[in-house]
Amino acid sequence: MAGILKGSWMNLFLRSVLFLLASLLPGIARAGQDAKPLPQPDDRYKTDILLVVAHPDDEGAATPYLARALDQGKRIAVVFGTRGSSGGNEAGAEQAAALGAIREIEARRALATMGITNIWFLGGKDTASQNVLQSLANWDHGASLEQLIRLVRLTRPEVILTFLPGTFIGEDHGDHQASGVLATEAFDLAGDDTVFPEQVAVPTKRLEPFLENLRAWQPKKIYYFPDADKEDIFKDQGPVYSVKDISNLAKKPYWRIALDSFLEHQTQSKNFKDSLSKMTDAQIEKMATGGDFWNGGLHFVRGKSLVGGSVTGDIFESVSPGAIPFARPEFAPEPPRPDLSVELAGPWGFYVAFRRAHGLTHLAHPEPPEIALQLGTTLAIPLWLRNPTSSAQVITLAVDLPPGWTLQSGAGKFSVSPKQIAAARVELNLPPMSDVAPKKDDLQEITVRSESNGKSIGTLKLRVELRKRALPQ
Ligand SMILES: [Zn+2]
Repeated sequence: MAGILKGSWMNLFLRSVLFLLASLLPGIARAGQDAKPLPQPDDRYKTDILLVVAHPDDEGAATPYLARALDQGKRIAVVFGTRGSSGGNEAGAEQAAALGAIREIEARRALATMGITNIWFLGGKDTASQNVLQSLANWDHGASLEQLIRLVRLTRPEVILTFLPGTFIGEDHGDHQASGVLATEAFDLAGDDTVFPEQVAVPTKRLEPFLENLRAWQPKKIYYFPDADKEDIFKDQGPVYSVKDISNLAKKPYWRIALDSFLEHQTQSKNFKDSLSKMTDAQIEKMATGGDFWNGGLHFVRGKSLVGGSVTGDIFESVSPGAIPFARPEFAPEPPRPDLSVELAGPWGFYVAFRRAHGLTHLAHPEPPEIALQLGTTLAIPLWLRNPTSSAQVITLAVDLPPGWTLQSGAGKFSVSPKQIAAARVELNLPPMSDVAPKKDDLQEITVRSESNGKSIGTLKLRVELRKRALPQ
């Protein structure tokens, strides 16, 4: 009896509270009857192409194609990794951070000549080396990736274009590679709700200012351009676009639009611009469409497509509007290893694992691995010595060198504990600057032989092009 009475009182109480709530909050009481449309993502930032490069003026690797895409009505946004504060300055005295402030504006002006204004900078620092791991560290990899994933979710690109993540004989700038690594990581992670979930959380109150209310976004395709001198290993790995066709919008050839855009980078182009003023139009065209410039065509390497299409087909082949589901990249398992092994570490070892982790095992890379280095400097060969057995093992390293090279350190016997992976490092002196006149394409081969208990456990090769000038390893 007491229970029933108590229940009645509770019912009366609840009904009173609900009545009060309903009269105070008519919106809640009538929810579902006149629901307001949800705010949509900001369409001003929606893009078809997101270009991710390292430095102001690197966009020049793609601008002739971007001009073509603008003709087709594509929307384009650009992300730079750094502000280029370590570059030269042909236009004035400013250096370092002041130069970076100038180059940010030059990049905005260069792209504005093509009508591209959605441009962001990740805040990385220029890193003068060919080692992508140095660049990633110097860019604060985590913070840069977080910001790039935020920008992918904000701009919702159909396609990402970026430097090919790999190391080659070429300019082979670590920063260029870093932009390609970050863009690939962002391609694979931006669609995952559990990655930086605070970016895709819905703010529940106006004064919860830390949650961003973006939505996860899976781009459909990623294409690369390599920072390599030779493009033969990339033949038929993606589409090629002529730079000589005439733009419908600008009534100029695509190479000319790209060249005019580049000239806005005055700190980088002033001397070049002076030399152009002494050339005829025909000479300028010959230079821009052959040799060192766009070489008659712009080559892309298809990294991944989640929507099908052919490898050498148009970048937008099979791309249709609308979101696609998140696709976790297929992880290629590690190949089985012998009992004892010696492998390349550093950037070379990283890229082997990177291609496996990101579904990119098809991506062309030089075999044996290669690098261009300056005469008179050193080559360091970082190695992993793997001993999965349950007893200590002795591994002996020996190095075969071309004439003029000398071994500095790193050969000899190494004891590796049971079930351990030890790091080793062979250091070599290149021939001095005066001895050899470097010839292009004259590749020097280095061989590292490893053995244990009198038996060979493997041979590693590296090819080196000697140069008068090259970025440090
Ligand atoms: Zn660059």
